[in-house]
Amino acid sequence: MLQSTQRLRQCAMMSRQQEKFQKILHATFVCLNLFVAFNHAGDYNGYMVYQLSPNTSEKIAVLKSLESVTGYDFWQEPGRKTSHLMVAPEQQHEFEKRMAASQIQTTIAINNVAEHLRKDGTFRDGQKEKSNKGTRRRFLRPDWKNFSFERYLKYNDMLRLVNGVVAKKSTANVITIGQTYQGRKMIAVKLSTCDNNPVILIDGGIHGREWAAPMSVLYILQKLIDDDEVIKKLTFYIIPLLNPDGYEYSRRKDRYWRKTMSKTPFTKCRGVDGNRNFDSHWNESGTEGDPCSQLYSGPEPFSESETRALRDLITSVRPVMYITFHSYGGLILYPWGYAPDLPDNWPELHLLGKKAADEVKRLFNTEYAVGASTNLLYPASGGSDDWSMEKAGVQLVYCIELEDFGSKFEPSPNELKEIVQHANTLVQVFTKHVEENYAS
Ligand SMILES: [Zn+2]
Repeated sequence: MLQSTQRLRQCAMMSRQQEKFQKILHATFVCLNLFVAFNHAGDYNGYMVYQLSPNTSEKIAVLKSLESVTGYDFWQEPGRKTSHLMVAPEQQHEFEKRMAASQIQTTIAINNVAEHLRKDGTFRDGQKEKSNKGTRRRFLRPDWKNFSFERYLKYNDMLRLVNGVVAKKSTANVITIGQTYQGRKMIAVKLSTCDNNPVILIDGGIHGREWAAPMSVLYILQKLIDDDEVIKKLTFYIIPLLNPDGYEYSRRKDRYWRKTMSKTPFTKCRGVDGNRNFDSHWNESGTEGDPCSQLYSGPEPFSESETRALRDLITSVRPVMYITFHSYGGLILYPWGYAPDLPDNWPELHLLGKKAADEVKRLFNTEYAVGASTNLLYPASGGSDDWSMEKAGVQLVYCIELEDFGSKFEPSPNELKEIVQHANTLVQVFTKHVEENYAS
């Protein structure tokens, strides 16, 4: 009895000490976050990207625990496939020690991120435009039949192209769905001949740095807009770019910016991870309460005007299918993302996902893995995919991580040309399924 009372007292003391330690640790992280937030300012000199191959769930959990630590940024989330992690210079020694202790195999994918950016043409997009006026004029023609998807566009140029092409089609309309934190107009293109038809909603680019995603959605729009047969049977809402503020910031200032641009309690740390900000098991797993983290879930669900705009569109048009494009990883994911559970209709989602992956494999010889988010990646809650199924009742939901061919966030012009076709092929297979099973 005495022993167990002593043990209880010891336990209480230990847990108080642990709590204290955790508080100190958290405060240290926040301070370090502020330091790093001040420090790199989009420069990334000395930052390294490691390729990691965790082959057990314990090793994946070790990697996942790093998400909350300052100076670590997962470019490709830890999961069954290899993942990529950018590490700040001041953390590299500690990181390598930790990987060796956990027996996680690492190789260096990028030795110096700043150097990688200097060599990379896509980041110099604005300069290329100035030096190549002929190309610029061709891109800005309202008729985009000749638009070849060999480069990344500014948000304003995307809007100009979309407005130009939509103006010529009686079945297409541009609708304003909201305004970003910095005042940019958010748009969706509606393709429809009859409001009673089943609705498919497609978006891309909730994460600023994932440039291949909005370009893929634009390509899908380019192909769908002239497909009169499909538009007779289905209605589409297509949002080319969900996070224009973050996208433009990643073009101009900080190539690896992921979040929105809203202000947080820490003046030097801005933005919320839009894909952790939806009201579905918000802030439960794979998210961060620290405003300086890349995975900051926000002060409350739907704190961001961008996520509210998508929420309001989904709840008003009630799609039967929702597809959200991200980059990168070569994955076709379906809910749930918050925990390793499966929705009731997972066999339909899995078979359809496989069918779409098989078609990409047949046409391009590129493999996409198919599975529930938490089976292929580690749990992350508050995503638009989970919310649309759980709270808005969307039946068919996919989150696509596009292939990158090893180029990570910077696919070359030739790679981009193929990636957008992967996206379109997936959508064609999905669309056919909805047409055959959900349209009257
Ligand atoms: Zn993403």
